[in-house]
Amino acid sequence: MKIRLKTDREIKLMREVNREVGKLLQELAKLVRPGITTKDLDEFAEEYIRKLGAIPTFKEMAKFPGCICTSVNNQVVHGIPSPTQVLKEGDIVSIDAGMQLNGYCGDSTITVGVGEISEEKKRLLEVTKQALALGIEQCVVGNRIGDIGYAMQTYVESQGYSIVREFIGHGIGKFMHEPPEVPSFGKKGTGLELKRGLVIAVEPIVNMGDYKVNILRDGWTVVTADGSLSAQFEHTVAITNEGPQILSLPD
Ligand code: MG
Ligand code: MG
Repeated sequence: MKIRLKTDREIKLMREVNREVGKLLQELAKLVRPGITTKDLDEFAEEYIRKLGAIPTFKEMAKFPGCICTSVNNQVVHGIPSPTQVLKEGDIVSIDAGMQLNGYCGDSTITVGVGEISEEKKRLLEVTKQALALGIEQCVVGNRIGDIGYAMQTYVESQGYSIVREFIGHGIGKFMHEPPEVPSFGKKGTGLELKRGLVIAVEPIVNMGDYKVNILRDGWTVVTADGSLSAQFEHTVAITNEGPQILSLPD
């Protein structure tokens, strides 16, 4: 697959689907509380996506067993929504949502606390969110892919955490995953030059401990190798002459 830059019309369509992903995540965040299961969240997401006439891409295209990924505590990504996974006070859960609407895909992730969470968990969430903001800041015409990862990695490591290497950001458009790859780590001034019309998902995953991960026997769920906590935030971002446009904001 070749890199396809998007026209202004396509970016408008991508804003529509990504806004819906953002709104869905906003609704899901409100539902997160002690006692709810990750399957409950998935059922809400499926109904939301179907009502729009959109396609739950994770389930129907990636053959993932759910419309969203729900990764709790030491789970890194691709946690499978389950009726037996009851969220508890003090947990953190990352919710990755995607859909396709009018032929274009949306992709975004948030991590939220369940009830009251500890100061150290709050800090992990803040640092991860800030890493995403710093990555997005680099999404300007003339910069390079490596600048995005460099900004996120250096910040996260300066805070005493680590950036997961195995799962990275990506181009997005008619397909959920398009070239180029967008690592959340890297070297300044290296890689593809960013051009107007490039649309990418920027998605730092931050571990409190080491960056190494394992995949569970279910074939999907990724966990930290050292059992430490993990968080992720993701936005779909268009590179425009006016700077980065975050497409997956809810409003
Ligand atoms: Mg995602
Ligand atoms: Mg993504």
